[in-house]
Amino acid sequence: MNDYLVKATACEGTVRAYAIRSTELVEEARRRQDTWATATAALGRMLTISTMMGAMLKGDDKITVKIEGDGPTGPIVADANAKGEARAYITHPHVDFDLNQQGKLDVARAIGTSGNLSVVKDLGLKEYFTGQVPIVSGEVSEDFTYYFASSEQVPSSVGAGVLVNPDQSVLAAGGFIIQVMPGATEDTIDYIEQSIQSLPAISSLIQAGKEPEDILKAVFGKEPFRLLEKLPIKFHCTCSLERIKNVISSLDLEEIDQMIEVDGGAEVTCHFCNEQYHLTKEDLIELKQTRES
Ligand SMILES: [Zn+2]
Repeated sequence: MNDYLVKATACEGTVRAYAIRSTELVEEARRRQDTWATATAALGRMLTISTMMGAMLKGDDKITVKIEGDGPTGPIVADANAKGEARAYITHPHVDFDLNQQGKLDVARAIGTSGNLSVVKDLGLKEYFTGQVPIVSGEVSEDFTYYFASSEQVPSSVGAGVLVNPDQSVLAAGGFIIQVMPGATEDTIDYIEQSIQSLPAISSLIQAGKEPEDILKAVFGKEPFRLLEKLPIKFHCTCSLERIKNVISSLDLEEIDQMIEVDGGAEVTCHFCNEQYHLTKEDLIELKQTRES
């Protein structure tokens, strides 16, 4: 079963909805980041929500979301674009706690309950949108719900969940974002709120084999919705040897000389995908000469 997300509208266009199955995406991030269970859930929720937010963009636009709490995971960063490609990294992946009182992975304890959630949208032509809100719970979904209301003035309900197998692999991951547009009636808002409150945990729906469309059916109930798009999603990192060379080339000359003379080369690991790049002494000398010319 491949991961994908769906976009839809309902209630005469006054409600916008996104739903996603991200099991494989989160599993790939887990393998690359080597996260332990609670950290996997934290990373997975960030990745799942940012992938849906990426799908709200157009063309070559990109989004970066970062949650920086006072918990042991340290900052978690996720990038996504309008093509359904996403990646993420977590500063300290080896974080695991007992389940919380609700029997869920204790994401708030891993991320922390104090700090910031920030969003940067790269809208091309050097145009950026940035927003930042304080963390309200550290559970990620609630933090994004608050972000949308406070920073984008769009009343939204955000859900994301990750289930982890005893062998640490990801069993199920998914989420939804439901947004109420101006013009929505009180009845519509009440209806959506009640239906979301009675929704089972999103990760258990995915585990039970439900598709993103089924999540929307569960949210909208008897209210019909119109499917606008179905978008395959995947883990994708933008790093390359060329980009790594550009980064090294921008360092101080002394640092490059040190790599040449002392280290005899350079090993660079991408934070996001854990890909390793090796530059030989000769590569570095060539970089330096290109820079000087
Ligand atoms: Zn990479």
